[in-house]
Amino acid sequence: MTSAATTSPLDVLHDVFGYDEFRGQQQGVVDQIVGGGDAVVLMPTGGGKSLCYQIPSLVRPGAGVVISPLIALMADQVTALENLGVRAAYLNSTLDFEEAQNVERALLDGELDLLYLAPERLVLPRTMALLERAQVALFAIDEAHCVSQWGHDFRSDYLGLGVLAERFPDVPRIALTATATPATHAELTERLHLGEAQHFVASFDRPNITYRIEPKQSGRSQLINFITTEHSGDSGIVYCLSRRGVEQLSEALVARGINALPYHAGLPSEVRADHQARFLREDGVVMVATIAFGMGIDKPDVRFVAHLDLPRSVEGYYQETGRAGRDGLPADAWMVYGLGDVVSQRRLIESGDGDSTYQRRAMSHLDSMLALCETVDCRRVQLLRYFDEESAPCGNCDTCITPPVTWDATVAVQKLLSAVIRLDRERGQRFGSGQVIDVLRGNDNERSRAADHESLSVWGIGEDLSETQWKTVVRQVLARGLLESHGDYGVLVVGEDAGPVLRNEVEVSLRVDPIKKSGSKKAGAK
Ligand code: ADP
Ligand code: ZN
Repeated sequence: MTSAATTSPLDVLHDVFGYDEFRGQQQGVVDQIVGGGDAVVLMPTGGGKSLCYQIPSLVRPGAGVVISPLIALMADQVTALENLGVRAAYLNSTLDFEEAQNVERALLDGELDLLYLAPERLVLPRTMALLERAQVALFAIDEAHCVSQWGHDFRSDYLGLGVLAERFPDVPRIALTATATPATHAELTERLHLGEAQHFVASFDRPNITYRIEPKQSGRSQLINFITTEHSGDSGIVYCLSRRGVEQLSEALVARGINALPYHAGLPSEVRADHQARFLREDGVVMVATIAFGMGIDKPDVRFVAHLDLPRSVEGYYQETGRAGRDGLPADAWMVYGLGDVVSQRRLIESGDGDSTYQRRAMSHLDSMLALCETVDCRRVQLLRYFDEESAPCGNCDTCITPPVTWDATVAVQKLLSAVIRLDRERGQRFGSGQVIDVLRGNDNERSRAADHESLSVWGIGEDLSETQWKTVVRQVLARGLLESHGDYGVLVVGEDAGPVLRNEVEVSLRVDPIKKSGSKKAGAK
């Protein structure tokens, strides 16, 4: 289609995409970019990010350049746009020399509305020179969280995208992501030099997704039971941690008559492409996959996402579960987890090649994920709070629907808070959870002896709970803000809301730890 200068965004929305009205913050974003400004857009999966750059690309003169890490999806995206009459193309490593030359010529001749590029391609001097000769309507940086070095999808090529600000100062830039933590938001704004951008942060709630997290007994049969009783014939995704886990599970599902396919990075690329295509086009395929699968997959009717292994972080969990129910109809986010998951994840982090800062961050990500598993509060409230969004109990998660079994942990929490306060006052120093638990349990080890912790009045006051139980108490107390964890070393500091607990004005109930091996004498279930 030819984008005459007079075409308005609303006309394009109607005439090209066939929609009646803008959704959420789309209009604001579109106006900002059409007006020549920059934008940072945080919107959940299915929120409608694509139109935020596709419409300005059609309204502004020249071609919109979309940077995406998802090479495997570019051909499909371009075909979908061509079917709407939009002049779109892509440049990536799957094109041969002649095909690439044709695309470059079309761009220079002003025959394109949208051009998709992989980041590694964009930063090549040849591509930069090409873009400098072309008329560029805008740069859209999709999956912009990939620039975050601490995130779960880091791509080193994204670090090079900061140069766009310098090389193309007059071209508006828009960064988009469905990852919403304040830390990622700040990091991508800085690294992509979007200091002047207007920020659009949508609610990250996905009200049609029901969250359920259960203790793992026999993970596989729990899953088969879940699929056959609640999602027979539905499309779904099951995430596993390892490639071997993926292969074994998909075989087991097929043996039970479930239409399952495996997907992981170790499979030949033709097999991956074939399985992805079948998942997208056929009804009722269950994709059993590692996290290599899913980013950018636009299948509206995924009815469930299941996790048989604990995700590495709340962000990862949110991303993966977010692939369910993009059509707005009810969908399930279902997970089982157990002590084995925690142990194997910790081992993975410790044996990995990350430095100690990386390891500490990875551990704290894992702890936040566990806190979500262990919460007695609404899962959604806690999930959204992780993204700095306050909400009310949802009535559509397992803890809202069936309140969990809890124990009165008031005394335990008072002991924990007192230990943190005593250590701070009497030692003039703050400590991480490991040392605080040592003090509570009176663990006579080198670390405790070196610090002369035995002379503290709080030494050994928490002998009645095991190490594992104290860890879950600490995680749950952190998740509620009664304690805060500061700095790279995760030293514990008493939170603002701790006062009433210490003064015995409020009770604290904690979930009976679902991952503990045997029951504790003191922690009687109510
Ligand atoms: P995201 O990239 O944020 O995950 P998409 O851009 O793929 O989301 O949009 C999700 C779905 O919503 C798509 O099927 C899209 O066509 C549809 N959609 C987006 N904006 C609108 C709108 N204004 N009106 C109706 N449907 C829309
Ligand atoms: Zn809820």
